[in-house]
Amino acid sequence: MRVAFISDVHSNIYALEAVLDDIGRHGIDQIIHAGDVVGYCAFPNQTIELFRRNRVMSIAGNHDQAAVIASGMGMNPVASEAVLWTARNLTPESLQYLKGLRPHMDMFIGAVRTSVHHGSPRDKKEYIFEEDASPDLLRACGARLLVLGHTHVPYVKTTHFGTIVNPGSVGQPRDGDPRASYLICDSTKEPFIPRRVEYDIDATVASIDHAHLPSFLGERLRGGI
Ligand code: ZN
Repeated sequence: MRVAFISDVHSNIYALEAVLDDIGRHGIDQIIHAGDVVGYCAFPNQTIELFRRNRVMSIAGNHDQAAVIASGMGMNPVASEAVLWTARNLTPESLQYLKGLRPHMDMFIGAVRTSVHHGSPRDKKEYIFEEDASPDLLRACGARLLVLGHTHVPYVKTTHFGTIVNPGSVGQPRDGDPRASYLICDSTKEPFIPRRVEYDIDATVASIDHAHLPSFLGERLRGGI
């Protein structure tokens, strides 16, 4: 079984289309998303439509939940402004979709018990970077493979108890590489293949400006920060 783990698409339709193209060339059976379908970029409804069409299995990220309740409380001002913009622009169908996202997912990939959470098994908003990825997190959810998002920084960390991965972000990478990031997992062959995919950043920046979203949200995409 071949799975593509993606995360933090954040309404960046140009990046998502490029990643779906790449996924299409790799014989993937299932796409699994670790949360934050929306927020930051200007295409929430189109992104949700592509998720539906490609049968992407997704959990809810903190931005998805914030958009549902139209509140950016506790977020920085730029993130909060984007949440409120998203909430104003969601179609009723998109709102229903976001409301229906589950908080986390447990499944088997091949024989590997796998758990998917946005921040951590403890807290949707906790940032787990590679140095924080300890076996305790695997024990907490009884999984041998734990898939996390939220930091927008990719890694694969193997511990004596199992593996913790973050596919990075499709729509707003923050590790200094502006290309969209995702991870292929093959339960039978080489287990993890990190992928980086170029997309039309100029078009994304122009759409952010056109929507009157904060211009910083476009600028940061150019540096992958
Ligand atoms: Zn995010």
